[in-house]
Amino acid sequence: MREAVEQLLLPAECLLCRALLSFRDSARLVCDVCRHRWRPVRPPWCARCGQPEPLFGRCRLCAEWPAAFGLARSAVWLDAGAREAVHALKYGGLPRIATELAAAMVGLDVPGLVSGLLVPVPLGRARLRDRGYNQSERLARALGRRWRRPVVDLLVRTRDTAAQTALTPEARLANVAGAFETRNAEGGARNSRTVEGSAVRVASSAFERPLILVDDVFTTGATLAEAARALERAGAGTVWAVTFGRAVVPDFT
Ligand SMILES: [Zn+2]
Ligand SMILES: [Zn+2]
Repeated sequence: MREAVEQLLLPAECLLCRALLSFRDSARLVCDVCRHRWRPVRPPWCARCGQPEPLFGRCRLCAEWPAAFGLARSAVWLDAGAREAVHALKYGGLPRIATELAAAMVGLDVPGLVSGLLVPVPLGRARLRDRGYNQSERLARALGRRWRRPVVDLLVRTRDTAAQTALTPEARLANVAGAFETRNAEGGARNSRTVEGSAVRVASSAFERPLILVDDVFTTGATLAEAARALERAGAGTVWAVTFGRAVVPDFT
């Protein structure tokens, strides 16, 4: 309902460059020109975390990841236009931009997708209350419609973590340590619930399928690794992750 009203009130212009959108595209938020400016993340990369590999030695970014967490891929680099789009999703109160971000993620190459379940990275209670929605869940639902895969709300965030922005990779890991639990860690399927629009019941068998974490941005992978750790503890054997954006990792050394 709110989204329908929003659509009527907002002028039909591109959110990023303010160019007017054609009548046909009036339900969209980002014009074709801006979408084509998003810079895809491409190989060569570390086969596991999808980060450009260091010139010497092996990738350190994913060295400490839990064994089940085998692959992370992102659609575009978090350059100016893409960053603005994520900002609109997170802070601009424009959850329907998730559709545009998901469209950029459709081509990500994820093995075992046909039997996979999409798992949004949850927000803490306070942040969810402030924002009114979880941007990762919106993204997962939009992507689930494109991929025809169910979205399952397997994770809960046990505490709100400090904003990661200013933290070093090591501090980021400490900041998110133990921040996630699975919904049916106790009480089995009774405690589980399904995300709206999804018909799948969460049973313990869910953990036997490839679980695909969905988040808006990959920075150092610390949050995703911690979420994967919680899924692994609950019995997951295969965890992948997909994000819309990938931040260029600042050089802390
Ligand atoms: Zn535009
Ligand atoms: Zn790596």
